Amino acid sequence: MQLEFFGAAGEVTGSCHIVRAAGRQMLLDCGMIQGGADAPARNRRAFSFEPASIDAVVLSHAHIDHCGRLPLLVKRGFRGPIYTNAACADLLPILLRDTADLALREAQRENRYIGTNRDLAHGEERATPLFAMEDVDAVLRQVRPVAFDQPKELFPGITVRVRDAGHILGSSSIEMWLTEDTVTRKLVFSGDLGQYDTPILHDPFAFESADLVLMESTYGDRRHRSRDDTERELGGILAQAARDGGNVIVPAFAIGRSQEILYLLARHYGEWHMAKWRIFLDSPMAIAASRVYWKHPDRFDEEASRLREGFRGMPPLPNLVLSETADESRAINALRGGAIIIAGSGMANGGRVLHHLRHNLPRPECHVLIVGFQAPGTLGRQLVDRRPEVRIHGRPVRVAAQIHTLGGLSAHGDQAQLLRWYDSFRGRPPVFLVHGEVPAAEALAGKLRERGATATVARPGLQIDPASLPALAADRPTA
Ligand SMILES: [Zn+2]
Repeated sequence: MQLEFFGAAGEVTGSCHIVRAAGRQMLLDCGMIQGGADAPARNRRAFSFEPASIDAVVLSHAHIDHCGRLPLLVKRGFRGPIYTNAACADLLPILLRDTADLALREAQRENRYIGTNRDLAHGEERATPLFAMEDVDAVLRQVRPVAFDQPKELFPGITVRVRDAGHILGSSSIEMWLTEDTVTRKLVFSGDLGQYDTPILHDPFAFESADLVLMESTYGDRRHRSRDDTERELGGILAQAARDGGNVIVPAFAIGRSQEILYLLARHYGEWHMAKWRIFLDSPMAIAASRVYWKHPDRFDEEASRLREGFRGMPPLPNLVLSETADESRAINALRGGAIIIAGSGMANGGRVLHHLRHNLPRPECHVLIVGFQAPGTLGRQLVDRRPEVRIHGRPVRVAAQIHTLGGLSAHGDQAQLLRWYDSFRGRPPVFLVHGEVPAAEALAGKLRERGATATVARPGLQIDPASLPALAADRPTA
């Protein structure tokens, strides 16, 4: 048996690991590389394995850096089943279709540029999208939902069980038992791990045993602000915004953060005097994702389940307006105050939030709430950096509105929470750290070594033979 690291080894995106056992070859995730000027070229590069030779994919969750290259894998010949939980399977079409749509528009833009600036040089080809909608449809036909917490034999000698990872709806950690001859080894792949006490979702599942652990390390070197402090801060900002009489603009990702913010507004509805606001979810994708959240109450923690009972729709707010069409979105511009507007994109580098920012940034009584990571070069980052003027749709816009950065709402656990997750294992199984920039992964590796664990920062191409490791896990699948 063999485990080989392919993507998200020494970096955060492009999650993809190869498991070879019992004569089969499987992938854990097949994600897209995001960020960095060379990302488009890297995503197009040939896989280091033959897609047609892969027997199955096990997918941890629906974020694009975990599932985004599945359509490419299918386009290049993969025909096997894609196993994931039902909630993830329901989010997949929303994310993958959006990605295919973006890829198509990007290629069109590039071709328009080529078309207007020069003729194609000899041998030069027009831009083609990374994959097409039909590749997404093919992926969706190959998805096979598996139940949470139930062992499932994929092939003789290969059994998996998915557990909640508490990161976004339908995010899972994966237990995998590999048997060759008479030797069985149990691998646990963390997937992306959420913060403990994340609104709506269960906490990350506490494992007891593994022979080998693959663990994410995104914030392996950081400490988040506490949830309580973050919520208090949010309440304070909304109180100030109410006194100022303007609008509140929240650039937010469609899946996860949007639902979380709405849930917090619902949870503190009375205390934060939410009844006097009109709350807009201005994103067809976030609305679709919210409906998927609502369909899967088995993924809710106790508090969210209780809150859900009192309402018929998701998100659970009586004064929430869902803006599906572009006209509905534009109509919000007429409101001078009293509106909380949640719109994409999360880094304000496109999408409907741009026209809300254009209308509200020049007004000192308005507030902008930044709730997620803002990559360098994005409009969101310029706002965080307090630029006095930004450009939107090619025009300068003066920034007079108050900008707030709310740090504690990350969808990933911090160093202390990652260590808490690892500490539930008996016998200190060896760990390979993935899904983190090298300094973050190294910092976490150092902490794990202090606990007596063997911790290695994974690199692309690194191969391990799990059978050569001592057997620590006593539990065996019973399916
Ligand atoms: Zn994720």
